[in-house]
Amino acid sequence: MILVTGGAGYIGSHVVKRLGEKGYNLVVYDNLSKGHREMVKYGRLVEGDLSETSRLAGLIQEYGVTGVIHFAAHCLVGESEENPHKYYLNNVVNTLHLLDAMLKTGVRRIVFSSSAAVYGEPLRVPIEEDHPTVPTNVYGQTKLMIENILEKYALAYDLRYAALRYFNAAGADEGAAIGEDHKPESHLIPLVLDVALGRKKEITIFGTDYDTPDGTCVRDYIHVSDLAEAHILALEDLVQTGRSSVYNLGNGKGFSVREVIETAERVTGKKIGAVEGNRRKGDPARLVALSARIMKKLGWRPACADLETIVATAWNFHRRRFG
Ligand code: UDP
Repeated sequence: MILVTGGAGYIGSHVVKRLGEKGYNLVVYDNLSKGHREMVKYGRLVEGDLSETSRLAGLIQEYGVTGVIHFAAHCLVGESEENPHKYYLNNVVNTLHLLDAMLKTGVRRIVFSSSAAVYGEPLRVPIEEDHPTVPTNVYGQTKLMIENILEKYALAYDLRYAALRYFNAAGADEGAAIGEDHKPESHLIPLVLDVALGRKKEITIFGTDYDTPDGTCVRDYIHVSDLAEAHILALEDLVQTGRSSVYNLGNGKGFSVREVIETAERVTGKKIGAVEGNRRKGDPARLVALSARIMKKLGWRPACADLETIVATAWNFHRRRFG
């Protein structure tokens, strides 16, 4: 039995679906502050907060949980800078509560949702896992703090963990019933699709003077279903080998903001109005992953690596949900 915290969220719901399809039994724990009840397609959804340690421990025992996949966290970079307390409390302290509940009940496997934000401004690209970690915002800092906690807990309490450092999660499940729906939305692809749908007049490009081929930021977009698969591989590896590790997850190919907009125009067949705006604070010019470690150690291969397909799946979901 797998416990998925934050399983009603964007990435969590895709992992829940993939786990369910593979026949895993699972229980989702989510306070529904950001997640969506209807996106939990498998398992039982228990509404609750990670701050409730004894309730969590009870739940783990009641369901006979043997492993945890931990998504529940706040994830907005700007907000984390404006309200660090909210991020340290919800991301770091609440993870400590979750780990308490796990240790109390003897559960020692956890797959943790980390982020490329742990690297900060990269010194070299593509970024491998041994690259220095110097986060430039509180959000990235909280993810790194949790990685450090996991590392120490692994040594002290025999915890086994995999920390997955996602680059830019994008796209939606092929059935288009689950996908990206944040309120407020701040991510590039759903915002661009909002323009295509006429829900938004135009997209603002955050900075056109970066040291990149077209002056706009370059990111490594990875399909959410490929991310989902990686979680399952990581969990299975923890069961089989018990080795703890940190893995990057990206496609190793960078696309600029302008290229994303052009791709979305091709996919949707709509003209997407864009205006040039100022840089967004804390945005590195280029973030591209080297994901060789997870490929080599876990045999992970992206099934949906091209940007056109990633945007097309996002568009199918977006039209269905918001059109
Ligand atoms: N971006 C943009 N306009 C927007 C939202 C995002 O130009 O309205 C850019 C942003 O600066 C970054 C890229 O798009 O370079 C991806 O941003 P997103 O917020 O989707 O993901 P992040 O890279 O912050 O994880």
